[in-house]
Amino acid sequence: MSAEVVDSNPYSRLMALKRMGIVDDYEKIRTYTVAVVGVGGVGSVTAEMLTRCGIGKLLLFDYDKVELANMNRLFFQPHQAGLSKVEAAEHTLRNINPDVSFETYNYNITTMENFTHFMERISHGALDEGKPVDLVLSCVDNFEARMAINTACNELGQTWMESGVSENAVSGHIQLIIPGETACFACAPPLVVAANIDEKTLKREGVCAASLPTTMGVVAGLLVQNVLKYLLKFGTVSYYLGYNAMQDFFPSMAMKANPQCNDHYCRKQQEEYKKKEAAQPKVEIVEKEEEVVHEDNEWGIELVSEITEADLQAAAGPVPDLPEGITVAYTVPSEAPVEGETVDVADQSLEELMAKMRNL
Ligand SMILES: [Zn+2]
Repeated sequence: MSAEVVDSNPYSRLMALKRMGIVDDYEKIRTYTVAVVGVGGVGSVTAEMLTRCGIGKLLLFDYDKVELANMNRLFFQPHQAGLSKVEAAEHTLRNINPDVSFETYNYNITTMENFTHFMERISHGALDEGKPVDLVLSCVDNFEARMAINTACNELGQTWMESGVSENAVSGHIQLIIPGETACFACAPPLVVAANIDEKTLKREGVCAASLPTTMGVVAGLLVQNVLKYLLKFGTVSYYLGYNAMQDFFPSMAMKANPQCNDHYCRKQQEEYKKKEAAQPKVEIVEKEEEVVHEDNEWGIELVSEITEADLQAAAGPVPDLPEGITVAYTVPSEAPVEGETVDVADQSLEELMAKMRNL
C-alpha cells in the first residue's frame, strides 16, 4: 500500500490519515479479514466501503437474489436483477478494487448444514488461511439470522458487530458484541422474543417493509466507521449507537453481558472473561496532585478554581425533590436580598460602612 501522493494512487487519500496523525498504521488494513453476513441495503454498502478502504479479504454470505424492488437502495444495478446478491456484489467489488480477496457463499446460514460451514469459514477463513476472521458484521434483516450469528460467535468467542434498520425506515443502530464482555444478542432479547412471538407471524402477506437509501447509507457509514476504528485502533469504538432519523438523535450506551443469558456459550465466555480480568495485574491508580499551572503556560495562569465546593453548594440554593437519577443543571438562590437590608455603597464612605457594621 503506497503512500505516494500521485493522482494514480488509489490509497493516497487513505494513507494521508497517517500524516494527519489520525491512524498510526493504515496499511495494516491490508492484513484484515471481515465477514459480512447479509449483502442487502446495509451489507452491500458496507462491503463497498471496506473494499474501497483496501480491506485484505471479505467473506460475503447471502442467499437472496437482486430484485428491481431493491433499486431504491444503493449499490446494486437494474441489469443485475436475477443474479445472486453475493455473485453480483463480488463482480462489482472486484472491479472497484482488485487488491481485495473474496470468498462468497450463496446460502442461508440458519440451516443446520450451512450453519456448520459458516462456523468453519469464520473460524478459519482469514487471509492468513486457518486463522479466524478479524470481525463478523451482521447486516441481516431478521431475528433468526441474527441469533444464528450470535450463537456461532458466542461459541467461537468471535467479536462481531450487529446492525439494523427499522421496518419503517427511519431508525437504525449498530452494536459491538465481544462475547463474555458486552451483552450478546441473547442477553437482552428484543421485544418480539421477550413476548414469545414468532416473527414470521408478524409478517403479513402483501405488506412489505419500507426502506430508504439514506437511513441504510447512514447505518452502513456508522458501522464501517466503527469497524475502521476497531481494526486500526483510533478514536472511540461505540458499544451501541442508535440513529433516529425523525429527530436526528444518536443515543449511545454500553451494555454488560447478562449472567442469566439463555445462551450457555455466552455464560461460559463470561466466566472466561472474569478469569482473564482477575489474572491481569492490578494497575495501581496513583492519585496525581492537581497541577495548578500548565508547564507550557509561560504566563503562569492558574487553571484551578478558587471557589470551594462549599461555596458552590451555598450559591446553588435549595435542590428540588427529584426522582433518583435526575439532577438539576443549576438552581437559583432562594433568598433574594430583602429590601431595607441592602446598603447603598455609592452613598457612603468606607469609614461610615465600617462604623455601621460595628454597631450591628
Ligand atoms: Zn448473552
